[in-house]
Amino acid sequence: MTQQKRKLKVFECFSSIQGESTYAGRPCYFIRLAGCNLRCSYCDTEKALSFDSFTETVSPEDLAKRAIDSGLDLVEITGGEPLVQYENVCVLCERLAAASSMTILLETNGSIDGSTLPPEVIRIFDWKTPSSGESSKMNLANFRFLRACDEVKFVIANRTDYEFMLRKVKEFSLFRLTKNILASPVSGSMDAKELVSWMLEDKFPGRLNLQLHKFLGVR
Ligand code: SF4
Repeated sequence: MTQQKRKLKVFECFSSIQGESTYAGRPCYFIRLAGCNLRCSYCDTEKALSFDSFTETVSPEDLAKRAIDSGLDLVEITGGEPLVQYENVCVLCERLAAASSMTILLETNGSIDGSTLPPEVIRIFDWKTPSSGESSKMNLANFRFLRACDEVKFVIANRTDYEFMLRKVKEFSLFRLTKNILASPVSGSMDAKELVSWMLEDKFPGRLNLQLHKFLGVR
């Protein structure tokens, strides 16, 4: 592979508070890669959607070093959709795992098979709900081979999305695989309190996933 091909297209890197997932509230180093293969209706990272939106190209080795040099013990690889750069993302994760004790999170939209990522990577799958307009694009194999450490997020904009989540949780017996099922209200269209009332009514054993960084006004 040429040197150029071994570089990742990076949109931005930064340290912030982890706003989502079961790791919410922990300081985290974020690596946001450029480009996404989907176009969700509620996307909040539109600037990073184009494959030409990268601000720099960086080798996986140098990117791993940057994350390690942050001194933080949590790193998240996100996008865009990071798995469109699958081969180099695997190298990045291998380097991080080999050279640090950082907990490695990778948030992916669920449309690309993530089964061969290094085992140290905790995968957070965003199972696209009907309101996204992209729910038919899921690679369903991703949800059949979840590990207990992996997480599945459903972004909920309305009752239809909520009921879709309930159906998929049951159909794929998700709670037998992982307890980390996240129900995430779309800010501005889904009232979080109403979502909580539905969860309580159904005794849904998942977790409300609020975007802590948005409450704080940080990225
Ligand atoms: S998968 Fe994520 S980054 Fe891509 S369009 Fe959907 S919300 Fe935006």
